[in-house]
Amino acid sequence: MIDAKAPLTSLKGVGPAMAARLERLGLVTLEDALFHLPLRYQDRTRVYPIGSLRPGDEGVVTGEVQASDIHFGRRRALLVRISDGTGSMLLRFFHFNGAQKAALARGERLRCFGEVRQGPAMLEMIHPEYQRLGSVGTVVVDEHLTPVYPATEGVSQKSLRNIIGQALAALEGELEEYLPECCLAGRPTLRQALRYVHMPPPEAEIDALTEGEHPAQQRLAFEELLAHNLSLRELRLKMQARAAPAIESDGALCRRLFEALPFQLTAAQRRVLAEVERDLARPHPMQRLVQGDVGSGKTIVAAAAVLRAVEAGYQAAVMAPTELLAEQHLHSFRQWLEPLGVAVSWLSGKQGARARRESLAAIAAGAPVVVGTHALFQEEVVFGKLGLVVVDEQHRFGVHQRLALKEKGAGGGLMPHQLIMTATPIPRTLAMTAYADLDTSIIDELPPGRQPVETVVVADSRRGEVIERVRAACGQGRQAYWVCTLIEESEVLQCQAAEETAALLAETLTGLEVGLVHGRMKAADKEAVMARFKAGKIDLLVATTVIEVGVDVPNASLMIIDNAERLGLAQLHQLRGRVGRGSISSVCILMYHKPLSRQGRARLQVLRETNDGFEIARRDLEIRGPGEVLGTRQSGLLRLRVADLQRDQALIPEVAQVAAQILQQWPERVPKLIARWVGQAQRYGEV
Ligand code: ADP
Ligand code: MG
Repeated sequence: MIDAKAPLTSLKGVGPAMAARLERLGLVTLEDALFHLPLRYQDRTRVYPIGSLRPGDEGVVTGEVQASDIHFGRRRALLVRISDGTGSMLLRFFHFNGAQKAALARGERLRCFGEVRQGPAMLEMIHPEYQRLGSVGTVVVDEHLTPVYPATEGVSQKSLRNIIGQALAALEGELEEYLPECCLAGRPTLRQALRYVHMPPPEAEIDALTEGEHPAQQRLAFEELLAHNLSLRELRLKMQARAAPAIESDGALCRRLFEALPFQLTAAQRRVLAEVERDLARPHPMQRLVQGDVGSGKTIVAAAAVLRAVEAGYQAAVMAPTELLAEQHLHSFRQWLEPLGVAVSWLSGKQGARARRESLAAIAAGAPVVVGTHALFQEEVVFGKLGLVVVDEQHRFGVHQRLALKEKGAGGGLMPHQLIMTATPIPRTLAMTAYADLDTSIIDELPPGRQPVETVVVADSRRGEVIERVRAACGQGRQAYWVCTLIEESEVLQCQAAEETAALLAETLTGLEVGLVHGRMKAADKEAVMARFKAGKIDLLVATTVIEVGVDVPNASLMIIDNAERLGLAQLHQLRGRVGRGSISSVCILMYHKPLSRQGRARLQVLRETNDGFEIARRDLEIRGPGEVLGTRQSGLLRLRVADLQRDQALIPEVAQVAAQILQQWPERVPKLIARWVGQAQRYGEV
């Protein structure tokens, strides 16, 4: 019996060097080769009459050489005209030698394969593959469509076809079917599907195959999504089997917090908080994702949860993805909790050695609340009695990091509860797949009095007018943000650009106070500038994208984003959320630099059309695809081989239903499905 997990070196023609190159494609075992699916197909199963060809067609033609000449145009080329009686076409070669020219002589019969394009005089193929047929040669065509696989340097299509063909022949008889009969009805079996996608019959619909919409591919996508769903469910079950401190308290601290607030929680905030409190009271770790649009008030919900943990005698850690956002949280939490007698500690990567040592010691000794950046994940951070972890803006942390936190539990084998907050709303079907290990709550209401932000898109050639708008707004006592962006990932360059812009604007806008914040300033300096902006002493705040999250100045009613085309939708939406927080109507000006790419135009258009975070996330998904939206591309979560979360959304409800059924009736298939499809990726989910 052949082992599906046998290494590819067990195949003919695969030595260690080839195996190493194949590994770059993620191909290690025979089974990996089976699931390495074609990107597209070529049709060499029939010979097309030349007269029937259209530009864009790809296929085999045969014909007799009518003429063969070297053409000295802008680029020297060998032009060979062939005809098959139904029409004629040109073969164009830019690279050729004397022998080749001689071989392609008048009267020779050729079989060619290539893509047809419209040339200046007639249809052409550029550098086709060709064979000479000889005077009586018969034309041999392939029996099935030719797959074109994702390849890499040193691994040709020919080798891949050979390797995958061997793997298919070896394993085909051994492939176990894990889908229950009910969902196989009308679907091909695994074996049929794999054979079909690697070797489609001549009559197969190439268009459906190219789009990944053929029933054979959909069958495979279904099984893959099912395996991922099961693996996340399993992760969740394992977590639920772990013990966590049951956090119950009389809520006296929370009540005092709410009494001191200048506002009342919205109904949505109260509902979500109640869900969180219910989870916290259970002796198993909460794994809850709270989604809420920018400005929906997630922080206060987190603060209330933190107080619950503190009241019950546990520590809480609050983590943010950037230094500035973490500082903002520190500020909010201190303002809310310290009057109640709850100390808030700070831990960040940019802290001095001494301050850091002190923080670490305090954390180990049981400091009730710690706010920080991903520095909190590091190994030397040891909590005395950690009961709750709050992670803000989850999509920017890798799954690894989220999981690393679990290890920092409350001692005695207890895991901390986890509350994850995101302003990137995740469409439901995606959440069902990518976050099947989390419960979700949605804060679907903004605090009263928020004004929708009017968004305008202008070319940066109109910078002068934009500056005048700033002057007018600030003249009326309003405040404004001017955000600088840069393509390069260089923080230094971005900060320089902000410095230059600030200097220029200060010069132009005489009489206005222009401030500057960027990521390379000392924390104390940043805080001082922010404090002056908050107090209304600065009219225009020039910033790098560090202000993306967390800044809250209700009097600011104008936001200018320079080179807006360089930012993603989610980031632009976040930035725009900094205005429209007061009772005045606000404007966001997205300034772009020409030329604008199609995607760039589409993104800016979306922002002009809507202020709704869910709608924006949906459109973002359409424009960019789920891997990038969720930031999972790097993190290893959901590395899908066949399925496409966007294209195959319609399968997901059935996937979820079948997954539940398999867990119930055929639990022995669960590890097998996971091993087949998720394999190594599941390591990320180890509990
Ligand atoms: P986000 O969900 O984007 O993190 P924040 O938690 O930063 O939003 O809240 C945005 C602002 O709204 C903060 O100034 C916060 O104090 C305020 N806020 C939160 N909840 C309410 C409410 N129910 N009514 C009025 N203002 C609120
Ligand atoms: Mg927030």
